[in-house]
Formats: sequence, structure tokens, C-alpha cells
Amino acid sequence: MESSAKTIERNIDREVVNQFRDGLDGALLLQGEEGYEQARLVWNGMIDKYPMGVVACESVADVQAAVIFARNQNLPLAVRGGGHNVAGLATCDGGLVLDMTPMHEVVVDPEAKTVAVEGGAQWAHADLATAEHGLIVPGGVVSDTGVGGLTLSGGIGHFRRKFGMTCDSLIGAEMVAANGEIVTCDLNHNSDLLWALRGGGGNFGIVTRFVFRAHEAGPDVRIAAIFYPGEQGKRVLQWLREAGSDLPEEISIVSFYGVVPEGEPFPTEIHGRPFYALLALHDDTGEVGEQALQPLREQGEPMFEIFDVVPYVEAQQFFDEDYPRHELRYYWKSKFMKAMPDEALDVMWEQAQKQPSPRSTLDIWQLGGAMRRQDNVGSAAGSRAAEFLFNVEANWEQAADDDANIAWARETLDKLKPWLEEQAYLNFPGFIEEGAQQARDAFGDDYTRLVDLKRRYDPDNLFRFNTNIDPEG
Ligand SMILES: Cc1cc2nc3c(=O)[nH]c(=O)nc-3n(C[C@H](O)[C@H](O)[C@H](O)COP(=O)(O)OP(=O)(O)OC[C@H]3O[C@@H](n4cnc5c(N)ncnc54)[C@H](O)[C@@H]3O)c2cc1C
Repeated sequence: MESSAKTIERNIDREVVNQFRDGLDGALLLQGEEGYEQARLVWNGMIDKYPMGVVACESVADVQAAVIFARNQNLPLAVRGGGHNVAGLATCDGGLVLDMTPMHEVVVDPEAKTVAVEGGAQWAHADLATAEHGLIVPGGVVSDTGVGGLTLSGGIGHFRRKFGMTCDSLIGAEMVAANGEIVTCDLNHNSDLLWALRGGGGNFGIVTRFVFRAHEAGPDVRIAAIFYPGEQGKRVLQWLREAGSDLPEEISIVSFYGVVPEGEPFPTEIHGRPFYALLALHDDTGEVGEQALQPLREQGEPMFEIFDVVPYVEAQQFFDEDYPRHELRYYWKSKFMKAMPDEALDVMWEQAQKQPSPRSTLDIWQLGGAMRRQDNVGSAAGSRAAEFLFNVEANWEQAADDDANIAWARETLDKLKPWLEEQAYLNFPGFIEEGAQQARDAFGDDYTRLVDLKRRYDPDNLFRFNTNIDPEG
């Protein structure tokens, strides 16, 4: 994944560049200029690309100007929301990075229960703004992930079984298309574009404003984070498999094998021990929430737990420190599960014990509930039928360990293959080794509908660093 090209010269007239820069509300940083080294980095430390420049957009007009500049100069154009995509889609060698992060305003309409979020916001911006009204937009489980990338490829968070995928709450958008023009969509007009933005990737244009339906929940929630010894993981997973779809839709369990890290909040005597954890939130802070989450504590002998009422904003930051920006190297790849027999559980525990890095995890996300109900517009987001999503998260520190960690992740998927669908969840796509085939598998019959929309809004594939909808079909 690393770039060997450290300096990429482009023959663009200096005058043209200066004109572009002078017309911006935000800043353009070119290779070699102060601040460029920091600006070129994305979250995954494995990604080491050198764009010609990074334009930090402050306004819709900046986004339009950058699109037109990239198109006229024939430059590859990468769009950056939160920069969290594991494959490093938010940057490119030799092209222009359109950085949306300065555009992070969030406007809540508490009466209408709608939330307008600018295209470069992170979930922390949205969570903070909605919390004061006792509302939430169901995002992901880490607060500094971008609203943009997560929503455009689906979005699964702590309330997915109660409120659906993130993209299911998207009710409108404003987008700059490849010709630089502004296009809007909502439930009643251009609803085919809304359908595509609900999970069809960043293929159609740059979303400058997302409009979400908000849901009543919070500002406080009950959190259950129950850590069992790793050896008890199989038993816990058997319970999750049997009880899974009967558990109330209010709870959506994320569960994972890992190794207890050193430091707070874990007691010293369990540091370094393998664990299997169950994590879920409930929006009822009284008896109902307590009772619904109680079974998560009763599937073995937990060695550590958090069972408490906390602000939703805080619960959303529970994992933030585990995933530092650009300091670590990451390879995450997922597949929806066909089945989870005991044999598959044995393979998971075997692989968990072989992980080369103690920072890695093997994750199982419980699905279903509201994820299976959609409004008339529907969404492009793939597989809704599966009960569980499997995701291997390889997280490590040194470049010298790249091969061992990636090989372990791939071996794990390979050994679990008999119980996995072909379809990946596109927000955990690995390095998109399959190319456009990954999108074809993920979207199934909807792929051709997405190609038609791609041809309408981006016929020359200007927005090509994403889930690979090929305008050629
Ligand atoms: C620590 C961490 C935790 C995560 N947790 C979850 C989780 O709980 N649930 C979940 O579903 N996923 C989760 N993810 C996966 C995450 O959804 C994807 O990595 C997603 O791509 C991140 O979006 P981003 O805007 O931060 O990324 P970026 O890398 O900036 O963008 C990803 C893609 O979206 C495009 N894009 C971004 N913003 C826009 C925009 N405004 N308009 C058009 N295109 C845009 C980019 O061009 C790129 O193709 C997590 C990822 C990380 C790193």
C-alpha cells in the first residue's frame, strides 16, 4: 500500500494554481509547503501517499471550485471526510485531496426532529449537538469517524437494531456533482439519488450537507461492557447465537476477542489476558434497560465489567483512544455470516490465540431488527438478511510486522470461509483487493441501478476513490 513516489511533479501552470488558491475561502497546501506533511496523512498509518495538494474547503463554493479545478487539470481527486477509511480512500498520489473537515457545522431542528450536518463533520460534532435536545442520529461506535464516509457506505452503530443503519435515517442531502453543479435530494424529489447516497458510497458527488431524521434517546444511556476470559468466549458466543434474534431490538451487541490492554480502566491482574467482550447500550436508564442488558453479565464468569449509566456522548468515545490517527497500522476486513456453528466458533478462538498483535480483535456484530425495515425510498446498502457480521481487525505498530498481521487477518477469513457470505460490509473493506468485484458482490442486483446513477452524476468517474461503481458497467 505504500507509495514509492515521494515527489510527483505536475505540469500545471503556476498562474492557474494561484488563481484557484486566490478564489478559495479555505486554504490550499501544495507539496513542499509548510503544513503539507501533516495535511497529507489519513488515519491508517499504512497509507503513505503524496497528493499534489490538499485543499481545505470552508464553503460549498470551495468544493465546487476544487471539483472544477481537478476536472480541468485532469487531476485525480480524492475526497476526505473523517479520513477513517481503512483502505486510505481519502488520499491519492499526485492528485488533489479535497478535505471537507473544516465544514462541520451541525444544525438541529428539535421540533421537526431533523439534523443538518455539513459533509466534513465527525460523529462527535453531531452527538454533542443532538444530546442537548435528547435526540440522536445513530452513527458509528467511535466519535471521530466521519459522518460522510460512514453514512455513504451504510453505517452500523449502537442503535442499529432499534433505529436501523445510519443511512436509513438520511432524509435529504445537498451534493456537488462532477460538473460542479449543486444537486439536492430528499424523500420527495430526486429520491433515486437519495436511495444511492444511502449506502452506495461516495460515487456520485461530494455531499456538502446531510439531513437526518433524529430519534428520541439520551442524553444518558445504560452501557454494558462485559469482559469474559477468552476461554469462555465459545460459551458466550453460543448464547449470542441462540438468543440473538430474540433479544430486544433496543440492544445491538458488538462482541469481540482481544487481549486486555495495560492501563485504565482495567485492573492490573488481568492485563495481557485474552478476553471475549460483549458491549451494548440501552436508551432506558431505569429498570427496563437494566433488565434487558442483565443477560449479558450472566453467560460465564466476567473478569471485568462496566455496567453503568453514562452520557451517550461519553459512551460514543469509549473506543476513541484505541484507534489513534496515523500512529498505528490497520487492516480491517469483514464478511456477513451465513451461519455460526460450533466449528466456526472453534476456528475463531484458535485464530484469536494466534493474533500477532495484542491490539487486534475479532469482532461479531449482531444485526437484524430495524435494519430489516426500510421506508419507501429504501437504500443501496447491501445485505440486510444476515444475523451477524464478522470483522477481523488487525491493529499493530511497526511496518516490519505488516506482513504477519495482514497474513493473520486473511488466514482468519480464509478459515472461516465456509460460514461467510461473499458480501463484505463496505465500511470494513480491507484494501479492496477484489476491485469492482467487491462492490458487485455487495450490491448484487442493485449494482446496475447504481451504474445508471453514476453515469448521470459522474460519467467520467471523477469520484473514483470509493466503492468502485464503474460507469462502464
Ligand atoms: C476507528 C474506526 C471506527 C469505526 N467504527 C465504525 C462503526 O462503528 N460503524 C461503521 O459502520 N463503520 C465504522 N468504521 C468504518 C467507517 O465507517 C469507514 O472507515 C468510513 O469510510 C469512514 O468515513 P470517513 O468519512 O471517516 O472516511 P474517509 O476516509 O474520509 O472517507 C471514506 C470514503 O467516503 C468518501 N466521503 C467521505 N465524506 C464524503 C462526503 N462528504 N461526500 C462524498 N464522499 C465522501 C471518501 O471520498 C471515501 O471514498 C470505523 C472506522 C474506524 C477507523
